[in-house]
Amino acid sequence: MTKVSLNTSSQNLSLQKNKYWAVIPAAGAGKRMASKIPKQYLPLAGKTVLEQTLNVFIQHPDISGIVLAVTEGDPYWQEIAANYNQENMTPVFIAPGGQERCHSVLNALKELTVHASDNDWALVHDAARPCLTGSDIDQLITKLSDSPAGGLLGLPMADTVKRCDKEQNVIATVERSELWRALTPQMFPLKLLKDALTLAIENKALVTDEASAIELQGLKPKIVEGQPGNIKITHPGDLQLAALFFANAQD
Ligand code: C5P
Repeated sequence: MTKVSLNTSSQNLSLQKNKYWAVIPAAGAGKRMASKIPKQYLPLAGKTVLEQTLNVFIQHPDISGIVLAVTEGDPYWQEIAANYNQENMTPVFIAPGGQERCHSVLNALKELTVHASDNDWALVHDAARPCLTGSDIDQLITKLSDSPAGGLLGLPMADTVKRCDKEQNVIATVERSELWRALTPQMFPLKLLKDALTLAIENKALVTDEASAIELQGLKPKIVEGQPGNIKITHPGDLQLAALFFANAQD
């Protein structure tokens, strides 16, 4: 934890400033991509998807360091690992991936406790979302740093939403005015999130995002509206969309 000392004429105030860390689960197989190479290592604008994602956090001035969860012995990571942890670069620490995303995130949070304080902020972000912008990170930090239950980027539901049965018959039209899509980063105090995820997993709730674990504790994370370009690469067409995003960003 960084101590900031303010000298005023009448007193010496000592404020504690919590740091911001990125936690990136990158240990998935990406089965829906129909590719032999895990999706985080597919090529995108001259690098891999994962390198583009890492760059967003490395270039952000408020991020103190990154913990990356990768499959143990991952040969694709070993090929690019030497590009990181060079002098004066934001440090990248490694944690082992787990069976599900929530296990990978928990492993990374455990590694983060070695480097960070309990009340520092963990920004958990999918490796498969390389189109995140620095301004979305700014938004999260500005809007959530005073919210003890943290929060996440989200997008209000734009389409009409249907509930269907297994044969794809529509059963109901769902009122969408209160529905949001949960994106990442999701930002929570480190200890709060680690404890919440540990409990969720112990209770066999294999949550698919961090906010779900916090909600299970009876807390109410806040949603901050993010940019629609922050897509998760899931299907082959998503990689083409992400390539367009990078081509436009360079114009
Ligand atoms: O598969 P899905 O798109 O939901 O994965 C979201 C993120 O979680 C990806 O960056 C993926 O690499 C990561 N993941 C992980 N460990 C797993 C499964 C997924 O780190 N066991």
